[in-house]
Amino acid sequence: MIVVTGATGHLGTLVVRGLAARVPAGEVVAAVRDPKKAEGLAALGVQVREADYDRPETLGPALEGAEKVLLISGSEPGRRVPQHRAVVEAAKAAGVRHLAYTGILGGPETDFPLADDHKGTEEVILASGLAYTFLRNGWYTENYTGDLSQVFAQGAVTASAGDGRVASAARQDYADAAVAVLTGEGHENTAYELSGDEAWSFAEFAAELSRQTGREIRYNALSAEAHRELLAEAGLPAHVIEIIVTIDDGIRRGLLARRTGDLSRLIGRPTTPLADSIAAALKQG
Ligand code: NDP
Repeated sequence: MIVVTGATGHLGTLVVRGLAARVPAGEVVAAVRDPKKAEGLAALGVQVREADYDRPETLGPALEGAEKVLLISGSEPGRRVPQHRAVVEAAKAAGVRHLAYTGILGGPETDFPLADDHKGTEEVILASGLAYTFLRNGWYTENYTGDLSQVFAQGAVTASAGDGRVASAARQDYADAAVAVLTGEGHENTAYELSGDEAWSFAEFAAELSRQTGREIRYNALSAEAHRELLAEAGLPAHVIEIIVTIDDGIRRGLLARRTGDLSRLIGRPTTPLADSIAAALKQG
């Protein structure tokens, strides 16, 4: 039995679909916070079980009979270490043979605050003694292409990342890597640094948007201070502003530009190029 937590999320849905195409669907469990949102997953023939990281009593039953578990990191920065610890403890109690975890590119070396939960979780997993695979995911290209409305409204891509580069890949690429690890052999006690084959700068991102739309999109390169002010004027809460600006500072310092080739090796094909992700986003409208 392979259990995927956070299965109603963007990444989780892609992983469950990938697993259901590779192994008998009845051997796959979509562990979800809200089973009402999982109708599409249930239609694949996979088992749907409730698993809320904040309600440890749901986790034991969710992981019953699990041989392998993919713990997809939660979406509440600052709260995730105790949430993930609850899943790790339940996995240990259930006799899980192999736990994979979606962390962050660079692992403990990535020093912006959003990475702290991932470091803390990796420590919890190491201390548990469970066989693990750290899927240290770089940025999803969809972080930038998912909603281009602001970019088109302003005629600009705005960031405080300087000339820093991002070796992003499509969510589907990271999902395929998780499927490869969960259905393959020999991945125990390994950390994979997963990122795109190519790293792009925000100026290049803006240029590619211009090329594909025929509109002039420029890179509005801000200082961290100017970026904070702009985001505050837009009404974003202080903690969100801090996350955005410290990530951009990390990008400026090259933390998300690292290319190891681990992702394309795991999935057996090149990662999705930026231009393809932009084209897909423009097609979706
Ligand atoms: P989503 O926000 O689409 O999915 C997050 C999933 O986590 C959802 O299924 C959500 O459940 C689930 N979740 C959140 N809190 C809990 C909880 N208390 N108990 C159980 N499940 C919970 O994100 P993605 O799928 O795109 O990404 C997966 C994870 O990767 C994110 O949660 C985040 O940790 C990280 N991430 C990585 C990025 C990158 O670029 N590498 C960018 C953004 C996030 P529900 O469906 O009920 O809301």
